[in-house]
Amino acid sequence: MLSKDLERIKDLQVRKNVPLLPLTSFRIGGPAHLFLVPRTLKALEHTIFYLGNRSISYKVLGQGSNLLISDKGVKLVMSLAALNRIHSTPGHTFKTIVSVEAGCRLKSLISWSIHNSLCGLENLSGIPASVGGAISMNAGTNKCSMAEAIDAVQFTGPDGSCWFQRNQLQFDYRSFRLPDKALISAARIQLDKSSPDQIKRNVRNVMRKRRTTQPIGKPNAGCVFRNPPGDSAGKLIDQCGLKGLRIGDAEVSKKHANFIVNRGKASAVQVMDLLEIIRERVKKEADVGLVPEVSIWGMET
Ligand SMILES: Cc1cc2nc3c(=O)[nH]c(=O)nc-3n(C[C@H](O)[C@H](O)[C@H](O)COP(=O)(O)OP(=O)(O)OC[C@H]3O[C@@H](n4cnc5c(N)ncnc54)[C@H](O)[C@@H]3O)c2cc1C
Repeated sequence: MLSKDLERIKDLQVRKNVPLLPLTSFRIGGPAHLFLVPRTLKALEHTIFYLGNRSISYKVLGQGSNLLISDKGVKLVMSLAALNRIHSTPGHTFKTIVSVEAGCRLKSLISWSIHNSLCGLENLSGIPASVGGAISMNAGTNKCSMAEAIDAVQFTGPDGSCWFQRNQLQFDYRSFRLPDKALISAARIQLDKSSPDQIKRNVRNVMRKRRTTQPIGKPNAGCVFRNPPGDSAGKLIDQCGLKGLRIGDAEVSKKHANFIVNRGKASAVQVMDLLEIIRERVKKEADVGLVPEVSIWGMET
């Protein structure tokens, strides 16, 4: 009944029992019973209006780089992957404002800005994310975060879409306050003019550092815990001697203690058990309560 109704929405692709595992960087998780891919903003608005009116909840999928999904899967997933257009907006004097849909990959946006001699996003290079996911997690490094590049964000909820200016938005460390029942459908990013060679050099430096500090090559979901104020989750986990600790195929990375890597067939349950052990040990030995950074779907924390 639900899928029949949704199939009537123009420009909405409705798929059943879609495996989510290949859509996540962790390579973990069961299927989405229904998987929705709106191809236009109108289709997204109609879908959210339909779901909102019936109080049907759903999960929003970006690039799947910060997700731990239950082995049983989840009911309803909205993928914004088809909403990925970029265009620059004329009329601003000092900055170039670029409008981008939320499903666009951050990597594509950075390549587009290099091509158009625009800088400002280089320090975010190598963060696997959609623009919507990067905003919702306020993705970043110790040098910068997504918030700094934002001019405005468009939200779409059951009442339609509307733009919020930078001063109306609340960004925090690895978090962003979303209006109730809304998702991020687009953003305006402010960038400066620069030479493509200089931007490319900056990108290369950032990528080089990333390769030396992060476990590239094994499936993972980035940092699993948020850094406690003034401290580093990775350092605390390392000090407890937990690097290399394994449950099944889930392992605390030997390179970066705040990463859990999937050595092959790790399950969500194994990762959850590992998270619990880490939390208990850090609490006991350092008296610090670690909070997950990774978004967990379909399981209690
Ligand atoms: C190898 C690796 C390195 C990483 N390095 C970093 C790093 O240096 N810094 C950093 O901050 N992160 C890092 N991450 C984590 C990840 O890249 C970021 O959290 C990123 O912002 C996730 O974006 P995504 O599109 O993949 O979101 P997803 O993983 O798909 O979703 C994450 C959360 O955002 C929500 N979401 C996604 N899109 C939207 C939307 N349009 N509207 C509302 N909510 C939405 C989802 O519902 C979910 O709750 C890393 C991950 C990996 C695998």
